[in-house]
Amino acid sequence: DKVKMEDIVSLCKRRGIIFPSSEIYNGFAGFFDYGPLGSELKRNVKDAFWRSFVQCREDVVGIDSSIIHNPTTWQSSGHLDGFSDPMVDCKETKLRYRADQLFASPVVLEEDGSTVGYVCVLEANDEDMVKDAKKQAKRLLKEKDLKGSKIQAFQFRDLTEIDEDVMAQVPSPGSGKPTLTMPRDFNLMFQTSVGAMQDASSVAYLRPETAQGIFINYKNVLDTARLKLPFGIAQIGKAFRNEITPRNFIFRSREFEQMEIEYFIPPGDDVWQPYHEKWIADAREFLLKVGLKDELMGYDIHEGDGLAHYARACTDITFRFPFGVQELMGIAARGDFDLTSHTKGSGKTLDYFDEQTRERFTPHVIEPSLGVDRCILALICSAYAEDEVNGEKRSYLAFHPSIAPVKVSVLPLVKNKEPLVLAARQLFEKLQVRWNCSWDQTGAIGRRYRRADEVGVPFCVTVDFETIEDDGAVTIRDRDTTEQVRIPIDDVVDYLGKKLMD
Ligand code: ATP
Repeated sequence: DKVKMEDIVSLCKRRGIIFPSSEIYNGFAGFFDYGPLGSELKRNVKDAFWRSFVQCREDVVGIDSSIIHNPTTWQSSGHLDGFSDPMVDCKETKLRYRADQLFASPVVLEEDGSTVGYVCVLEANDEDMVKDAKKQAKRLLKEKDLKGSKIQAFQFRDLTEIDEDVMAQVPSPGSGKPTLTMPRDFNLMFQTSVGAMQDASSVAYLRPETAQGIFINYKNVLDTARLKLPFGIAQIGKAFRNEITPRNFIFRSREFEQMEIEYFIPPGDDVWQPYHEKWIADAREFLLKVGLKDELMGYDIHEGDGLAHYARACTDITFRFPFGVQELMGIAARGDFDLTSHTKGSGKTLDYFDEQTRERFTPHVIEPSLGVDRCILALICSAYAEDEVNGEKRSYLAFHPSIAPVKVSVLPLVKNKEPLVLAARQLFEKLQVRWNCSWDQTGAIGRRYRRADEVGVPFCVTVDFETIEDDGAVTIRDRDTTEQVRIPIDDVVDYLGKKLMD
């Protein structure tokens, strides 16, 4: 029953949800374009987030900052010095790999063109990751009928433990031979230059996260929005990371969108924990509400080495994607690291005055951060379903109505009977004012239902001969149950309004 990535990618392409970017120029690795249905889906996901966490809460306000900030921002935030991944180059193929990913997956070891075995090299402080990679390697050996081959497993706690001797044994996935350079830090920020001059002073960066735009506006918002602690500032927008190995479709791309909140709370060692827990719970509730499958979600609690030095705690909400369990969203307790760093960097005090206690202090912060595209991939994986209708296989997307790109499809039974088409058209125009609707008049009705199902349209409304000649009613078909009900044409808006819950 497992969803396959290739089915999802091909469905997205075939039905105009997501295309590889710049396809007419053979694409551009790590970039994607959302098509007519994908852009609706994306808008719905962002709207749902905004409605839940900004509009339905009195303690959170939104902003929309510029993508390029004063470059000093990234000096203060630590991104210029520390926002990097370990990278290795293949000396032969010139291909680049993210060292931690390279070492976490089993690779084919070839000699003189023939496969002689698999080597599994691991960078892992995480025992589960080690187990997982070993399992993967065993499966590969079985698949390729190389049962006799040895699985070699190196285990490191840290990439700095890797020395030249080890690197000399690690085969490059590109060439199959060990021709890799030693790991080195690669900064993930995209550089650009601002202004007509191109020199060191004009260097600027595309933001690798939306969060810093919130911190640098902390004072502006505090001074204008009449907020009392605890309060949050939310932002949705593009982020850019020059990922060394973008992969798994929109899971890891170089241009993506984030939905982030900085929730400012009073300082203190015993204050942040309940807030952190509440945000984890609220985040999970949101993800369930928009349609993520509960059984595919989990938690990854960062501890010890896995926790950034300034963070108090970080819990990821994970999702079981077809390619494995991965981070979907992070909820971090970041202490006062960010506001303090920007206070130091800018010389402007970013603090809070509590009128009741007459105290001045730097607030701490809880940061929920969710990738729009990753969320969309998880939603598609959750919604993808196959069953049998009238003995025929059907695949459909069981999207929650709130995020479904098209809510209603209107189908005139035939296209050559004018009064029938006219009645359908009038209904379509009435529905269109409220929801994104589609009009489909070609092909057998069963095929039209299937087309709508495939992109997750919750309801199809069919206008037939009886509608105009007899009962003035239409047939409404439910995507998930395929059940049909007969409703007077004048009641359709009310009926769907209740079903679509808006
Ligand atoms: P990863 O370890 O997967 O690279 P991260 O821990 O660096 O992710 P954060 O910096 O915490 O990610 O970013 C917050 C959220 O932004 C992630 O949970 C994810 O949903 C999203 N995100 C981060 N990088 C990417 C990317 N390259 N493509 C798509 N979404 C991303």
